[in-house]
Order: sequence, then structure tokens, then C-alpha cells
Amino acid sequence: MIIPEQPTETAPAAKGSSFLSVQDLKVSFATEDGIVRAVNGLSFDLEKGRTLGIVGESGSGKSVTNLTILGLHNPRTTTVEGQILLDGQELVTASDKELAKLRGSKMSMVFQDALAALSPYYTVGRQIAEPYMKHTGASKKEARDRAIEMLTKVGIPQPQTRVDDYPHQFSGGMRQRAMIAMALVNDPELLIADEPTTALDVTVQAQILDLLKDLQQETGTSIIFITHDLGVIANIADDVLVMYAGRCVERGTMAEVLDSSQHPYGWGLLRSIPHMNADVDKPLMPIPGTPPSLLNPPSGCAFHPRCEFRDKVGGDRCVTELPRLELANGHLSACHLTPQQKQDIFAQQIQPQLG
Ligand code: ADP
Ligand code: MG
Repeated sequence: MIIPEQPTETAPAAKGSSFLSVQDLKVSFATEDGIVRAVNGLSFDLEKGRTLGIVGESGSGKSVTNLTILGLHNPRTTTVEGQILLDGQELVTASDKELAKLRGSKMSMVFQDALAALSPYYTVGRQIAEPYMKHTGASKKEARDRAIEMLTKVGIPQPQTRVDDYPHQFSGGMRQRAMIAMALVNDPELLIADEPTTALDVTVQAQILDLLKDLQQETGTSIIFITHDLGVIANIADDVLVMYAGRCVERGTMAEVLDSSQHPYGWGLLRSIPHMNADVDKPLMPIPGTPPSLLNPPSGCAFHPRCEFRDKVGGDRCVTELPRLELANGHLSACHLTPQQKQDIFAQQIQPQLG
């Protein structure tokens, strides 16, 4: 089957004017079953010191987007198109060597699984010290001091002795803190955190979120925070990009999306936040249906098979026509409903269901 070229979303921000500028990014994988279009025309900007939340269900292309920014994709099986400018430097065409140099200095990352990210064979301190020595040329002693300083910063008790522990001697929350220490040791300007709290219990999760926010205030790092749970980033992200099937379907400030989401998928995410205002009487409403395969995504609006509002759009537009990202009631959304319909549905049907 031939998949026709679809128009890509509009990109309202001026090209390359911000700290991180992603323009019309497309990432696809050649697989035995066909081409997987994991990211399909994504554009966004991130300013210095701000936090962008990228939210969407599993398989929507969040991790692929960020691995591509970091240059951690496999170039043999991955096709990348579009532009990624980090502080004016083009990353899509950058060499492996340039990217490796940027990783761990200008940009770094924190993942969900600290056990996989940390080596079991080296002490936590050494794993924090090593990238510091490599980047700054510091001595072993200086780097050890820096590791202790970083462990203190991320709230590890008795950092003077803990620095010599191995990862398995740390609790899950402490390992996550250690990974954050490692990621921040060279004062990166961009930190990508991919579901960093998903494996943690709620209390520890809240502590880690607070920690990231505090460290950001201290260092001015820009953060991309990836999660499948809008509730997790509600308090820490300045801006939010909602992803569905490899595309951005809604983008605005966190407040705009929380207070007046303009997309049926955004409404679904809002309704599935566990107890946003601790109102236990409101039932949790998971989004019905499952996310589509990116091997063969639905035509038109990829969300149409799950959308309860497509009858309100005339004809079969949702099935045949890809909605563009357009301004509606103050921020960007990609849905064929009119701005008036979006406003009315949100106010009359969605808002009353939220906690
Ligand atoms: P998520 O939003 O959960 O982070 P991902 O970005 O990991 O989603 O994945 C997006 C899509 O790309 C998924 O359908 C996934 O199966 C597919 N994908 C990711 N990496 C590869 C790869 N190396 N080869 C083929 N398909 C991939
Ligand atoms: Mg992921």
C-alpha cells in the first residue's frame, strides 16, 4: 500500500530563534513489516530555563523524538528529516563525534530505568566523576569532590561515604537521584528526562519532581520532560506538547492546556489524570480504545477511530483530511472541530467531569 505524503503541521515560531528549535522533524524506521513513521512532522521551540512537557500514550513517538535530539538513534535503520537547532547548532547533520561531545556537556538525559543507565560494576561516585573528568580535565581528587558535591545537591544523605557505594546499594529513588547527579555534573543547558519518575512510588516521584525544579532554578537548565501522564507534569512544565501517533495534536502553555484543552485527545488525557484535585468522587476515565500502529496509522486524523466528537464535524473530514495545527482559543490544536465547538464542548462536557 502506498501512503500518500501528508501535509505537515504549521510551525508558527521563527526558525532557530530559540535555544532549542525543532522544525518539521520526521523519524522513520525501515522494518521487515514496512516503514514505521514514529515522528511525522514535529515542530517546537524551547527557551532557556523553561520546561517543556511532552505527553502522550505509549508508542506516540516521545522517546524517539528525544533520542533523535540526543543523536542516539541507529543511523543504519533510522531516517531523520527536518531540523534540530541547539543554540544555533544543527544536530540532524552533525557527526557522531560532535554529538557525543554535546551529550554529557551541553545536553544530557535521565531515563526511567536508573539500573540500566548505571553500571553495576563501578561505584556511583566514579560514574558521576568520570564524565566530569572527561569534560573538564579535572584531576581524580577534584572529580571525586565534584561527585560528592553533586550527591549533596541531589539530596543523598552522607554523600561522603555514599560516593563509594555501588548502584545496588542505593534505593530506587536514590538511584534516580544519582542518575540526575550524573546528568547534571557538567552543567548541561538542556536536560531530557524521559519518564524519570514512572517506576517510583508517588511520594518519591513528588520528591524527584521537586528536586528537578529546584535544580533548574539554580542552574537555568532547559528541560524536556517526557511522560504518559499529564498529571505528573502539571506542576512542573511551563509548556506542553501533546503527541499522538507521531504528531503534535496540541501545544500551549501548561495552564492553557489544563484550563482549556482544545483537542479531544487532550480532553481524554485530562479526564484520565488520577484525582487532579484529590476529588476521589470523580471517576477516572481512561481513554477508550488503543493507540494506533505507526506502521499503518489511520487516515485523516489519526485519533478519529477513538474520537467521540467526530460526528460533530461535517462529512467524513476526520477520516480523509489531516487536521493542521492551528490557533483556536489561544493556543494550537489539530482538530476539525471549529474553535467555537471546541470551546463549547470543553466548557459544557469536559470541565464538569474534571476533579
Ligand atoms: P513512546 O511515546 O512510548 O516513547 P516511542 O517513541 O518509543 O514511543 O516509539 C514510537 C514508535 O516507534 C513505536 O511504535 C515503536 O514501536 C516504534 N519504534 C521505536 N524505535 C523503533 C526502532 N528502532 N525500530 C522500529 N520501530 C521503532
Ligand atoms: Mg518512551
